[in-house]
Amino acid sequence: MLKQTRNVYCVGRNYRAHAAEMGNAVPEQPMLFGKPTHALVEMDGRHIVLPGAQGSVHYEAELVVHIARPYESGIRVDEMVDQYALGLDLTLRDVQDTLKKKGYPWLAAKGFLHSAPLTAFRPFPGVAALQQADFTLRKNGIEAQRGNVKNMIFDLQTLVDFTARHYGLGPGDVLFTGTPEGVGALADGDRLELLWDEQSWGACSIRLEGSAS
Ligand code: ZN
Repeated sequence: MLKQTRNVYCVGRNYRAHAAEMGNAVPEQPMLFGKPTHALVEMDGRHIVLPGAQGSVHYEAELVVHIARPYESGIRVDEMVDQYALGLDLTLRDVQDTLKKKGYPWLAAKGFLHSAPLTAFRPFPGVAALQQADFTLRKNGIEAQRGNVKNMIFDLQTLVDFTARHYGLGPGDVLFTGTPEGVGALADGDRLELLWDEQSWGACSIRLEGSAS
């Protein structure tokens, strides 16, 4: 699945409490950015190597949807999306702060190698069913983030329509849909586990390469 992925879209600031914890205003329209497909790495229990000498690496747990069909005006999310997964939109936060100040592109902070760990994909149950369960991130066995798609600022339909109209959306594309509050820095050796409805969908341990620890 990961090898066939085409475009990797991500949405920033899509949960009010997360925008607030970062001191960011809530956007008036979806704030999209992309990652190279090389950012994707499967959360299959093994370790994931990340840059450890460029300041803090923050975790952002997110719901990820996989697009199955070419977009056409009026198409519903339940027709467009065939699978969903949980993922981490890893962020070099100190790098991002510098880039923001300079007005530089976000690639160095958001698009580095292995910056998008993903669980395996599961069949998409439909938007209504998604709202019935929370997704959670556990770090070293302790809950760090909990989200529910009903708390999104821009819902899945809005995200799909907006992305398709501005950038194009088609089979093989994936969309990271934003993170709830509770983001924080990773330490070398941290164990991360993503859960849907309290069931584990994937895990990994973090190796920060070049870190002092
Ligand atoms: Zn994010």
